[in-house]
Amino acid sequence: MGQILSRAIAAAVALGFAAGSAAAQTDYPQRAITLIVPFAAGGPTDVVARIAGDHMTRTLGQPVIIENMVGAGGTTASTRAARATPDGYTIEMGHMGTHAASVALYPNLAYKPDVDFAPIGLVAGTPVLIVAKKDFPPKDLKEFVTFVKANVAALNMAHAGVGSVSFTTCLLLNSILGVKPASIPFNGTGPALTALISGQVDYMCDQIVNLVQQVQGGQIKAYAIGTAERSPALPDVPTSREAGLPEFQAQAWNALFAPKDTPQPILDKLSDALDKALDDEQTRKRLLELGSVLPDKAGRGQQALAALVKSEIARWTPIIKAAGPTD
Ligand code: ASP
Repeated sequence: MGQILSRAIAAAVALGFAAGSAAAQTDYPQRAITLIVPFAAGGPTDVVARIAGDHMTRTLGQPVIIENMVGAGGTTASTRAARATPDGYTIEMGHMGTHAASVALYPNLAYKPDVDFAPIGLVAGTPVLIVAKKDFPPKDLKEFVTFVKANVAALNMAHAGVGSVSFTTCLLLNSILGVKPASIPFNGTGPALTALISGQVDYMCDQIVNLVQQVQGGQIKAYAIGTAERSPALPDVPTSREAGLPEFQAQAWNALFAPKDTPQPILDKLSDALDKALDDEQTRKRLLELGSVLPDKAGRGQQALAALVKSEIARWTPIIKAAGPTD
């Protein structure tokens, strides 16, 4: 009798738990959601996160709070995001660096981007530009190539740490040119851009969303964009193909990830909130003005992002290996 009773109690308790967690999933979110940005405030990842987060806050009915956590080219914060409790209250704005290039750049990376995260969705494609301080002598990309090759010992290149987009795409550029300038790491390309504007560093490769205003205002020089088409946000900047360096193909992206094992109903709410943000006219306008390429319906959602992460790891791994040692 006692045994039956305790079994019945155990069953009831188990049922209660199941019901409790199901309710937690349906009622989600009940409190603020932390959106980890793995770079400094003011840079491209931060800006894209704040724009998307603003609109998602409205749909979710709870604030999406940005937490900037810097270090190791975004991999420190990504490790934290991968290990966070999978309850939908901690998510991350990752990118082509943290969730693809880092695999080849860090042999002991503490997370597997395609295994330890549950994709929420692609937020924006972000073409990469080659930019330099405003008084850098070369007039165009052809002169840039000649100048950098001839003066590399005296030049330095800014980036957001090993594993970042800026590091990886300039690694590609430098390996095409066969040069190894001094490399100066920052906690994000927000601070790197400030150093470029003040002339403390010579050049960098960065996501367009960080650069439009400064290129238009003449505070920095842009030599080329690493995509097949020019950007409507900076129509005067030639593509790398037009400017004579077609091997420099560099398009990055920003996307939202949750830790793996986040319950499906919670992931679906987050993906839906992102989808609504990407359909919102004002949000689209803000992202497009910065030069983002917005995903169409087929490019959105969990499956499309899972496929993108896999294909980007496959694309960048051989490029990084071919570029040789990174230190
Ligand atoms: N765009 C940067 C990178 O190079 C990161 C950032 O500050 O958003 O990865």
